[in-house]
Amino acid sequence: MLKMRRIDAKQRKITEKKSDENYTPLRLRNRYYDPQSKKENNKTKKEQWENKQLHGQHPYYLKQEDIDEAASDMWLMEGRLFPETEGFIIAIQDKVINTKNYRKYILQDKTLTDDKCRICNQQQETIEHIIAGCSILASIDYIRRHDNVAKIEHKRTYLVEIAVPLTNNLQRKHTEKIQRYIELAAEIKDMWEQREVKIMAVILSTTAVIPHALHRAIQQLQIPEMIYKEMQKAVILDTCALTRKFLQH
Ligand SMILES: [Zn+2]
Repeated sequence: MLKMRRIDAKQRKITEKKSDENYTPLRLRNRYYDPQSKKENNKTKKEQWENKQLHGQHPYYLKQEDIDEAASDMWLMEGRLFPETEGFIIAIQDKVINTKNYRKYILQDKTLTDDKCRICNQQQETIEHIIAGCSILASIDYIRRHDNVAKIEHKRTYLVEIAVPLTNNLQRKHTEKIQRYIELAAEIKDMWEQREVKIMAVILSTTAVIPHALHRAIQQLQIPEMIYKEMQKAVILDTCALTRKFLQH
């Protein structure tokens, strides 16, 4: 409960700020940026988080067979993100974000007449909707996040499909992407007279959960194994940035 309040307070502080402020060099002065002390700090944070999160969905997802739990927590262990961003992505994973749905049903805010999305006005404004489901954000923000992962994954002569779905859709998305490409791969194989056309799905979740399949794809692409950390960081930064921007509306 204490931890929950801490995150709420932290998050309020964040949303009141302009998002840019979170990335200024001025913040480098903060003592948390000392890499050594930060590492220690993160270990404790991870423990506290796991203890607190027993009832949450996020730890449940991390225990699924197709998920690489250690890799999924890598961003937290490595401590290369600013504390504001760490706090914010944890709040997003825990779904303690000040969405209209959260205010109406969890905080029981009687002043809200509905919980429709403030941007598209179509669906319920939940955190899942903000980070992956809003039709208006899809045209710019989700594409940007997708492209930022693509920039990290240097393309080669493979059919590479990149996706950043919600955590609970990871497995389904993987199958979907592969299936969509099977026919195309066969066509290309004939057309270009290739011996083999490989289909690769580079997929990690909106809240940075890493499936084992991502490591396999990276291996087959023969790009540096540790590149998943860069992809994870890119996704966290974009998910946090678009959520912050959304909440400022
Ligand atoms: Zn919307």
